[in-house]
Amino acid sequence: MTTVKFKKFDIEAYQPGKSTVKRLKNIIKLSANESALGVSVRAKKAISNKKLKFFRYPDGKSRELRSQISKKFDCNKEKIICGAGSDEVIQMLCQLFLKPKDEVILPQFSFLMYRIYAKIVGAKVVFAKEKNFKVSVSEIIKKVNSKTKMVFLANPNNPTGTYLTKFELINLRKRLRKNILLVVDDAYAEYMQNKDYKSGLDLFKNKQNVFILRTFSKIYGLSSLRVGWGYGSKKIIDALNIIKPPFNVNEVAQKAAIESLKDKKFITRSVKHNYFYATKLKDFLSNYDISSNKVSANFLLLNFNKCKLRAKSFYEKLKRKGIILRSTEEGYKIKNMLRLTIGSKEENIKFIKATQNIFRK
Ligand SMILES: *Cc1c(COP(=O)(O)O)cnc(C)c1O
Repeated sequence: MTTVKFKKFDIEAYQPGKSTVKRLKNIIKLSANESALGVSVRAKKAISNKKLKFFRYPDGKSRELRSQISKKFDCNKEKIICGAGSDEVIQMLCQLFLKPKDEVILPQFSFLMYRIYAKIVGAKVVFAKEKNFKVSVSEIIKKVNSKTKMVFLANPNNPTGTYLTKFELINLRKRLRKNILLVVDDAYAEYMQNKDYKSGLDLFKNKQNVFILRTFSKIYGLSSLRVGWGYGSKKIIDALNIIKPPFNVNEVAQKAAIESLKDKKFITRSVKHNYFYATKLKDFLSNYDISSNKVSANFLLLNFNKCKLRAKSFYEKLKRKGIILRSTEEGYKIKNMLRLTIGSKEENIKFIKATQNIFRK
């Protein structure tokens, strides 16, 4: 049989945080930055509603969801587009803006989907060095040339957990040419307690050349349902709506997202939980000379350079106990570090006990 020729891509497929260990049940998954408190009670109710009509197509424009988002975040619903995860919005943006040979600037260590979708449409991906695992505005500016079309940036950044301050982010926009689109990915914005931080949405709501990404996969606890949204100028949103798959966000996801937005208590509890345990785990790990970024989002990037164990060895020992962290070597290409998601109270305690056992020997 002949295989019909397909296009070849110079791409490493996305590798999600692992979730299984051979022969072990009851895995503690701290590898994908999911919600520590699970799904909100309100969203759960929406999901189990017996009146959902699965034989009908969902609202392709996610009207009610966009309306609720605009209320909650005080922004214009005509400038919102919903996607099957913010993932899909990144894909649509790349399809809309990038031609072969256009250039996209990404920080050296950044969310893997930016490079994957940019390369699929033939764009050239240019990496800007970071300083001490923090995005550098001046290094980004150094990489700008006449072919530069977009800059992607998660703030706070994944997997490093560092962030640009309000002033650094404003400065970046000022120094970029006006016809370069700055995409600010606010995936972890809700967790941020840092006084010098402002989300992309808060800073750039009315900017024509900034596009904001948000997700329901992290603090809202709906990773599996795939819902995210983008916010940009009316012109960009109208153009995205032309190329959007018609029924991209399913009905259950839309309903659950609407309810999770309304569950203020759940969000407040998640933020408090995260700050408390992130601080506790950071302190605890410093006893073993494992250092990490200042507390920011719902994960810590653990640095083993001063620790008596190598990151890889710690990873394997935890894995044998059924606890999975995120390797930063594959994909992100960061050596001797691991990314730890802040888990539930029980998960964090088990992680602490397992770590104590590993170092006792
Ligand atoms: C987790 C994450 C997302 C969310 O992706 P979804 O497709 O919405 O699940 C987006 N950006 C970054 C930087 C992330 O870490």
